Amino acid sequence: HAKGQGRNNYQLFSSSMSELAEESLSLEHALRSALDHDEFELFYQPQIEIATRKLVGVEALLRWNSREFGEVAPDRFIRIAEESGLILQMGDWVLREACRQRAEWNLAGIQDFPVAVNVSALQFRQPEFVRRVEESLRLYGVPAAQLELELTESIVMQESSLTANALEKLRQMGVVMSIDDFGTGYSSLGYLKHLPVKKLKVDAAFVRDMESDRADRAIVEAIVSLGRALDLTLVAEGVEQRSTLTSLGKLGCHVAQGYYYCRPLPVGEFLSWYREFAGEAQRLSVA
Ligand code: C2E
Ligand code: MG
Ligand code: MG
Ligand code: MG
Repeated sequence: HAKGQGRNNYQLFSSSMSELAEESLSLEHALRSALDHDEFELFYQPQIEIATRKLVGVEALLRWNSREFGEVAPDRFIRIAEESGLILQMGDWVLREACRQRAEWNLAGIQDFPVAVNVSALQFRQPEFVRRVEESLRLYGVPAAQLELELTESIVMQESSLTANALEKLRQMGVVMSIDDFGTGYSSLGYLKHLPVKKLKVDAAFVRDMESDRADRAIVEAIVSLGRALDLTLVAEGVEQRSTLTSLGKLGCHVAQGYYYCRPLPVGEFLSWYREFAGEAQRLSVA
């Protein structure tokens, strides 16, 4: 423990701690004005059905290009946003922006794959969360089935009636729900039986090395067979290699998302990718 390691160590520890805290504070400060300054953008990453090579969804991923700090990675700013409560406003913006974009695609006649949005626990626990989802859909005239919410295990594991009611209402509306980063959270599996969730997203941490790491492969295999037995759609995250895709297909995983197909892209580039991808699928089916 730091206490027993003498004064110098303690000072080192505390100065780096305070540097970290300072950095967080100034990031938090910048984050507060980011919405007003229009510094957020959604990137889109395709989800492809392995057996058919069809585009079956896109995940919207938040990007922050700060005036002050430049591009800040979500892994840095999401935590700060959650700790400061700013995630509530940001999450609202993400929800509305994703619906706006989905509506724009509908107008352009672009295939009706759903858009998936990440939801943080704090955001989900707002008593008015379901109403906000309804409002966003209504505002842009987007059918509920075109919206998917990526929830974390910590959200769905909550044994509160508030959570259960919200999940049930969303299901009745027709909103698709998935569990993100599956396998990294709590290991109690019994709850899966009762949840109105349609998809499990196998965390990239297990997928990444499943070709070389027997334990990772065993975990992916177990999640896939559990999910299939429960009639859930399995989505593998972080698929970078062709060989990983082949293995996932053999294991019975339905959908893959990852750099192998496409990185998350700004909407314009995503559309170019989409046109090329759709065109290629057309050519293949004609041939
Ligand atoms: P996530 O929801 O699990 O998203 C998947 C992450 O994996 C994304 O990181 C994506 O860019 C990355 N990724 C996708 N394919 C590959 C691949 O083949 N290889 C590797 N190495 N990475 C891949 P990103 O965009 O940096 O986001 C990180 C996390 O931040 C997300 O993880 C999610 O938890 C959170 N996040 C992002 N946008 C939002 C948002 O709008 N709201 C909330 N609450 N959280 C968000
Ligand atoms: Mg996600
Ligand atoms: Mg994930
Ligand atoms: Mg994640």
